[in-house]
Amino acid sequence: MTQESDCLFCRIARGEIPATIVYQRDGITAFRDIAPQAPTHVLLIPDRHISGAAAATDADDAALGRLIRTAAELARQEGIADSGYRLIINQGPDAGQTVPHLHVHLLGGKLLPTPLA
Ligand code: 5GP
Ligand code: ZN
Repeated sequence: MTQESDCLFCRIARGEIPATIVYQRDGITAFRDIAPQAPTHVLLIPDRHISGAAAATDADDAALGRLIRTAAELARQEGIADSGYRLIINQGPDAGQTVPHLHVHLLGGKLLPTPLA
């Protein structure tokens, strides 16, 4: 089990690993994905370690709500609010979750593939 001390995204939130941080406030950190899949590809995380959507509890409700609302705010900042964007949370192996710290992908700036595959 990943500990907060060595969790990649915990370390980014604490400033221990460099990232292009675009937002950090009220327990939420957002930073640009290192391997962007669209012109805008931002990851939003709760600063508190939650391993994934499946591990969220009642105590996380406020942070989860803020993640969505912050994503919408960042989409406006990125200039993609009108053209549209996609928010993705991958949970577990079949979804391809590679970092065990809950994160929302904010993707936009081009026509995104539908269906996914
Ligand atoms: P997942 O596949 O778990 O939903 O998404 C993990 C995302 O984190 C991937 O899109 C990957 O490119 C991104 N990522 C992995 N390591 C780093 C890193 O060190 N810095 C940043 N900014 N993004 C990372
Ligand atoms: Zn973490």
